[in-house]
Amino acid sequence: MTEDNRIKKIVIIGGGTSGWMSAAALSKVLKSRYCEIQLIESEEIGSVGVGEATIPQIQVFNKLLDLDEDEFVRKTQGTFKLGIQFVNWKQIGHKYFHAFGDVGKDMDAIQFYHYWLKMVKKGKALDLGEYTISNVASDRGKFMRPFDAGNSPLSNIAYAFHFDAGLYARFLREYSETRGVIRTAGTVMGTQLNPDTGFIESVILESGEKVSADFFIDCSGFRGLLIEQALHTGYEDWSHWLPCDSAWAVPCESVANLTPYTRSTAHAAGWQWRIPLQHRIGNGHVFSSKFMSEEDAKKILLNNLDGKALADPRMLKFVTGKRRKFWNKNCLAIGLASGFMEPLESTSIHLVQSAIGRLMTFFPNKSFAQEDIDEFNNQAHFEFDRIRDFLILHYKVTNRNDSEFWRYCRNMEIPDSLTQKIEQFKRNGRIFRTSNEMFSDLSWLEVMHGQGLQPEGYHALVDVMHEEEILNKMESVKRVIDKSVDYMPSHEQFIAENCKAEKMT
Ligand SMILES: Cc1cc2nc3c(=O)[nH]c(=O)nc-3n(C[C@H](O)[C@H](O)[C@H](O)COP(=O)(O)OP(=O)(O)OC[C@H]3O[C@@H](n4cnc5c(N)ncnc54)[C@H](O)[C@@H]3O)c2cc1C
Repeated sequence: MTEDNRIKKIVIIGGGTSGWMSAAALSKVLKSRYCEIQLIESEEIGSVGVGEATIPQIQVFNKLLDLDEDEFVRKTQGTFKLGIQFVNWKQIGHKYFHAFGDVGKDMDAIQFYHYWLKMVKKGKALDLGEYTISNVASDRGKFMRPFDAGNSPLSNIAYAFHFDAGLYARFLREYSETRGVIRTAGTVMGTQLNPDTGFIESVILESGEKVSADFFIDCSGFRGLLIEQALHTGYEDWSHWLPCDSAWAVPCESVANLTPYTRSTAHAAGWQWRIPLQHRIGNGHVFSSKFMSEEDAKKILLNNLDGKALADPRMLKFVTGKRRKFWNKNCLAIGLASGFMEPLESTSIHLVQSAIGRLMTFFPNKSFAQEDIDEFNNQAHFEFDRIRDFLILHYKVTNRNDSEFWRYCRNMEIPDSLTQKIEQFKRNGRIFRTSNEMFSDLSWLEVMHGQGLQPEGYHALVDVMHEEEILNKMESVKRVIDKSVDYMPSHEQFIAENCKAEKMT
């Protein structure tokens, strides 16, 4: 490769979470001397402004950027997250926790689960969550970062963050501009394609200005300004599996007890999120407009807030699915422009991060090797498809039968890849992570178990250990977890001591 073949200019369209995450990562890795990075965002159009719960992988992104975690939490009014509490999903009145981090101790979590399974069938075990530090800490409103505590579960606390989406974009914008990213406020009105190759040559702004680049990153949100409107890439619609297509979002006043987890409460035709931040609580009702009217959905949301609403609810419409290609010619779609899956497991921001990581792996030169682009797309499709299956699991495996929506979900056809996972689990509790899919076998376990799937048997080798030995082990795990959680400060106290944000005026 010659220097001349190098990408010399990248243009990012969009200044929402995905645009600024892309700008921040590229400016850190590429440095301004390698190539010019320009981000164009329309102040009139604005960003979706939601997307406030994350998963632990975001720590990898923060490390890439060399962020000071306390400063990041402070500047985004952030809080910490140990998992997601699912309420009313298996049946009304039932709760379970999809915890980050381990189940059990000193042994593989799935192995522990099989010992537990044998004992619970005999009525000799507590709830599985009682053997999970994140679950017990969440129930007691506790949080701390892991530290070197030897063999204790305190060495191994997995966590993510909740943050204010608008403040996060502002934080990353500051970061990116300091590292040379040029921001242009303007609305893109048109695109010029090369007549021979169909590659994007430039975008035209409302002001008439023409902005050219070698490589374009489309972070323009649902509209997919470049990937769809200019390149007509196509979209695969998954609404038949994930029928929610709308969300009302509204912030409300904070209340006492800053919970260290996201809550997802199932309703008659969808579910409601609750994301605690330092200055407010983020709430939203994701629902299917085929099964519930907008007015009813709004009422349910407003009737289920912890505190006073701080704004009028805002409606967001979406079509669950993905682009047929994420990378097409010299355009890569990241964020909502690339596809959308509802935020049930807080995966969208992770998909942004993961696309950025993959871009680094396949970083192009001006030849844009088709083999690389194809492999990028294959990997991204695999990642999207497996997350899709994981989300469908929440709807398909349920005892709920109380509304048309839930009856539809229980009876719908599901992808073969998911059927296979469910069938394997039902027999002897076996779960296998397929290739490098995002969710671990433990996440699959927690949700299958939580939604009410019960294996007929357990791993045959569990019988090698005497029952008494198993019971002793389980009691010891429970004791150690309880003691560890005793030691942890409350979530509120941890924040007050480490990363308290300034009051918003
Ligand atoms: C209801 C809902 C809840 C969500 N909750 C979560 C969550 O809890 N966790 C999570 O990980 N993700 C969540 N997400 C997803 C998350 O919000 C998005 O992944 C994230 O915000 C990235 O959005 P984006 O930057 O791709 O698009 P947007 O935020 O829509 O930004 C698009 C940008 O493009 C610009 N633009 C558009 N058209 C033009 C134009 N013509 N010219 C110039 N600029 C233009 C806009 O000005 C804007 O800056 C949620 C999404 C929805 C809809």
